[in-house]
Amino acid sequence: MTLIDGKATARTIKQEIAARVAEITARGGKRPHLAAVLVGHDGGSETYVKNKVLACKECGFESTLIRYEDDVTEDELLACVARLNADDSVDGFIVQLPLPAHISEQRVIEAIDHRKDVDGFHPVNVGRMAIGLPCYISATPLGILQLLRRHGVETSGKHCVVLGRSNIVGKPMASLMMQKQYGDATVTVLHSHSRDLKEECRRADILIAAIGRPGFVTADMVKPGATVIDVGTTRVADPSRPRGYRLSGDVDFEAVKDVAGAITPVPGGVGPMTICMLMLNTLAAGERKYYP
Ligand code: NAP
Repeated sequence: MTLIDGKATARTIKQEIAARVAEITARGGKRPHLAAVLVGHDGGSETYVKNKVLACKECGFESTLIRYEDDVTEDELLACVARLNADDSVDGFIVQLPLPAHISEQRVIEAIDHRKDVDGFHPVNVGRMAIGLPCYISATPLGILQLLRRHGVETSGKHCVVLGRSNIVGKPMASLMMQKQYGDATVTVLHSHSRDLKEECRRADILIAAIGRPGFVTADMVKPGATVIDVGTTRVADPSRPRGYRLSGDVDFEAVKDVAGAITPVPGGVGPMTICMLMLNTLAAGERKYYP
């Protein structure tokens, strides 16, 4: 069994990005600049944004953090988005989700100039991704593609099962795995109303689990030798840990590792790749790679 180490892969990719930034600046070019907008004080969002700012440093990017309190109005946030759209010094920016309930996330996402939408959530980027045009691809599915590619997992002609159909993971993942220029696989998507779920999973050469149900994928659902990618990250109470919880994946790792040919751990698998892919998208934004 091969352990697909997302932490090590992310480290390598960040070094590659930093080397590219060094080349750009040596030629007198500008460092890529990522701005992040954070609303409120949600613990998870604070950690994500802090790690994104740290990753910018590792890659040699400039970064700007803009903070608002929970009671910021939608109009104030939209005005911030408009300022960032117009700011030529900012190559790409993100608005950290989730937003407070009184703000429409969709309205905010659609207000972002798609040429600066390094999260890849704007409908223009999602649409371009679906028809195979150059665009920002959202970080989690892009990270999984990189993990598969960099660990030599053959995808062309294979049967890929995606468990979950969310807009940020399941749907884009299935679309990418199906497309000739990315996965070139035969894809099945399963969700909470799918029948014969166990049998369908057992047919997978590549099984990608993104449902947020700890330990859902058991050894009897995995074909011997299959590649198993675990996207799930659910906080499970654990009094033995200093924080009182641990992160649990959607896969019963201890049992499945003896059946799978390759598997990602949680933590240390897909998670570290996600922030790293935001950095790759920011580099692309700085270089005007997709939208010259
Ligand atoms: P989500 O929006 O809650 O979607 C969950 C999907 O799983 C839905 O399509 C749902 O089906 C399906 N589902 C739920 N229970 C199921 C069951 N018992 N059987 C079959 N399908 C079931 O979740 P998400 O945003 O995609 O996230 C999924 C997990 O990935 C979460 O643990 C999240 O924390 C994690 N995640 C990790 C990263 C990372 O960087 N590592 C990034 C994003 C998400 P219906 O559509 O029928 O409701």
